[in-house]
This record gives sequence, structure tokens and C-alpha cells, in this order.
Amino acid sequence: MGKIIVLVAAIAIIYYIGKEVLGAFRHLSDEELADFWAGRTKKSDPKAQRRFSEHLGSCSSCRDRLDEIRKSESGPGADAPMIERKY
Ligand SMILES: [Zn+2]
Repeated sequence: MGKIIVLVAAIAIIYYIGKEVLGAFRHLSDEELADFWAGRTKKSDPKAQRRFSEHLGSCSSCRDRLDEIRKSESGPGADAPMIERKY
């Protein structure tokens, strides 16, 4: 019995970490980028906000798409923090 519980816990931990790690590599959808730009992600899901920032810091294709959204999306985006470019 004890072994099964340990196994289930290990799988849960691996699943959780895997989800976090893969989440950082996954490209953002247009909707996520728009929410991020408008500052909605920061309010609703600070963890996702951090993940999106990290992804945008290392993914030029999502940065390009965010640039497109910044051109088209008006609204409260101006008070969103600028994306830090790491290089
Ligand atoms: Zn991306």
C-alpha cells in the first residue's frame, strides 16, 4: 500500500514539474498575448504572467506576434510593464 502512495505522489510531482517546464516552452496563443499586453493576465494569474514573460524573453516569434498585437490592440496596455529583452 505504502509503495503505491509514494508512486502516485512521484507521478503527481513529475506531472506538475513537467507542466511548469513545458509551459515555459509552449508558444502563447493570440488571446494569451492580448491578455498579457492588456494587463489582464497579471490580475487574473500572476503565475502565468511570469511564465509568459519568461517565454517572451526567449522566444522571438512570440515577441513578433506581441508587437503585432501592440499595434492593433488599444486600451490599458500602456500601463503594462515593458517586456524585458534579455538579449
Ligand atoms: Zn513562443
